[in-house]
Amino acid sequence: MKSNSISLHIENNGVANIIINLENEKVNKLNQSTLSDLEKAINVVDGNKAIRVLLISSAKENNFIAGADIAEIKQLNENSQTIAKLNFANQLFSRISNLKIPTVAVIEGSCLGGGLELALACKYRVAVISEKTILGLPEVNLGIIPGFGGTQRLPALVGLMQSFKLILTGKSIDAMQAFKIGLVDAITHKPFLNANLTKFVSDILENTNNNKILSARKNLAKSFCWSEKLLKFFIFYQARKNIFKATKGNYPAPFYALEVIKRTYKKPINKGLLVEQEAFVELAHSPIAKNLIELFFTQEEVKKLANNNFKFQPKKVALVGAGIMGGGIAWLFANKNINIIVKDISNQAIALAYSAVLKIFNQLKEIKKINQTKLEQKILKISPATDYTGFVGAELIIEAVVENTQIKQKVLQEIESASNSEAIIVSNTSSLSINELSSVLNNPARFAGLHFFNPVNKMPLVEIIAGEKTSPETIQKLLALSKQLGKTAVVVKDVAGFLVNRILLRYLNEAMYLLQEDLPILAIDNIIEEFGLPMGPFTLADTVGIDIGAKVAISLEQAYGERMQVALLLNSLQQEKLLGKKSNAGFYLYNNNKKTSVNPKIAEILQKIKPQLAKYEQKPDKQAIISRCIYSMINEASKCLEEQVIANAKQLDLAMIYGTGFPAFRGGLLRYADSVGIVKIVETLQQLQQIYGARFAVSDLLLSMAKNNTKFYD
Ligand code: NAD
Repeated sequence: MKSNSISLHIENNGVANIIINLENEKVNKLNQSTLSDLEKAINVVDGNKAIRVLLISSAKENNFIAGADIAEIKQLNENSQTIAKLNFANQLFSRISNLKIPTVAVIEGSCLGGGLELALACKYRVAVISEKTILGLPEVNLGIIPGFGGTQRLPALVGLMQSFKLILTGKSIDAMQAFKIGLVDAITHKPFLNANLTKFVSDILENTNNNKILSARKNLAKSFCWSEKLLKFFIFYQARKNIFKATKGNYPAPFYALEVIKRTYKKPINKGLLVEQEAFVELAHSPIAKNLIELFFTQEEVKKLANNNFKFQPKKVALVGAGIMGGGIAWLFANKNINIIVKDISNQAIALAYSAVLKIFNQLKEIKKINQTKLEQKILKISPATDYTGFVGAELIIEAVVENTQIKQKVLQEIESASNSEAIIVSNTSSLSINELSSVLNNPARFAGLHFFNPVNKMPLVEIIAGEKTSPETIQKLLALSKQLGKTAVVVKDVAGFLVNRILLRYLNEAMYLLQEDLPILAIDNIIEEFGLPMGPFTLADTVGIDIGAKVAISLEQAYGERMQVALLLNSLQQEKLLGKKSNAGFYLYNNNKKTSVNPKIAEILQKIKPQLAKYEQKPDKQAIISRCIYSMINEASKCLEEQVIANAKQLDLAMIYGTGFPAFRGGLLRYADSVGIVKIVETLQQLQQIYGARFAVSDLLLSMAKNNTKFYD
């Protein structure tokens, strides 16, 4: 039997193979037509006396099943339609799980979401050990929960604690970890798959009722003593607390999943599936899920900016400037096993960069992401240098020295004369003009900005800045490189602050103005965190470093004038050497990198500069704080769209989410603007302009949108 997505072969020895292979698709997805094809195959298998065992596998390289079809989930709006879809899959999976013959999912590559739920409906799972084999239920990342029985079959198989790690966080695990927790029954390396699978099948056929696997599962289940009510209470209490810590209550899906499991654990599966279904329907139709799903598609769209036919996989890279960013960038390349020369004028800086790299690798070792051997291999990818020897062989050279045009230009000239004429040269500048930097180069076509964010190991975004003379080929190479490095890249225009810092600085500056009006630091930080940003403006400024932030702020003021006028307070902080976390004092005081209290010095400084500050009658309330901070960003973002700094609103939203942590549940800055209403935002900005002046002058784009009643998204 063969259909568009599934083929079924029944061998003479009674082994039936269902092989999933969606036509014209890179990965297998459980869409409606695949599920129907699977049902047809099960119709043939069910009750067929000639079949002794059923194997379900995939013909795709490195992919078992990537999950349910997210495009179909996106379309779900009607309860009856969603319930019908879930019922179809659940009835089919229950049929598979109730088959009288043993069923084995043979997993190689990604086995996620609906894919894992199908594997869970099988009696056994065998996984191939490979970097590409990952198992997980990532639904909460899309604002939903598993809907094909994942909340039922996974806890029943591996127990509450292990299932929480997957279902409530959306994280995936590799084959080895899956074997350890009893999610898969056997693991094998690829060359031995056929032999090991044949042995596995013959073992279960010969000894169906009393085989090793089922008793191993029982042992795992015993390790959790369910009878103790107190323990049950504690486990759920702790899980809830952890979700709250991770989501600040802004993402409902993990809470729903927890509640479903709480209500259904150890109850009959048919009833449990109904509870799961009810929660799924509610979440799938919610605005948060819609926002997160849209974000997923934008990310896919951005990935496609890199032309797949275009490869750039440098084997040797060189970096100049082993500071905070240099250390992070060196780690990034070493972690991808790419050789990187790290040059600095100071040996001490190189030593510090090495310890920064080692610190990240050790953290990864602690959480068992790498072992000592790998750690040592990766560290060896980094070669220290105090001169340009070796640069001639590098295919990519990254400049990450201090933020100063003259110094950077001098370094870029040195790089150009020391390197191969084919090499791509990039600057990691946060605010300096790429055109100005490139003016000293003989061949500016191979030069661009490649702006990593701090900390490089954690921040998923990179801005690629195209100068006027940067060639399209250079941009394509950098897109391909970013993909290889696992970063999401957006291409932006060479304007001061590029995209993300330009928008972010407008907001950080506004927060300083609020502080100058005597609003408490803590209150502003808390309100912004409650809104959903990962940290308030003052905590962020302290973390980045007041001196670094000030440099960018000053260059933006020079470029944009009045609306980016730096708050007076910032200069005073610099003069007093209050640089933030790194000097143990900024807006807050720190001890061992931990915030202890608000810095009393700030009140003193404010007192001192008071005579120079404007006075206002009204004290801003919570809503005014949000409007001034967030609407300022919306206004600046719309100016960026007007000037075509980035291609569209979707990419801008993605960049702000990945570059600043703007809350994804709100769908991004401009999607949030749509949800508030453009007219309301324009009116508020106009009122603010009347009180505070030109920095709130509304962009032409917002004005015309309000006039024509249009939105950023249709
Ligand atoms: P840093 O001051 O920590 O490091 C700069 C390093 O450059 C120092 O080790 C210094 O010794 C070295 N250096 C100076 N002149 C040199 C020369 N002629 N040759 C070789 N090395 C030289 O700076 P950083 O924070 O790592 O920033 C580096 C670049 O990255 C800047 O352009 C900055 O704007 C940008 N950036 C910084 C951040 C951030 O948060 N720190 C974020 C994104 C981008």
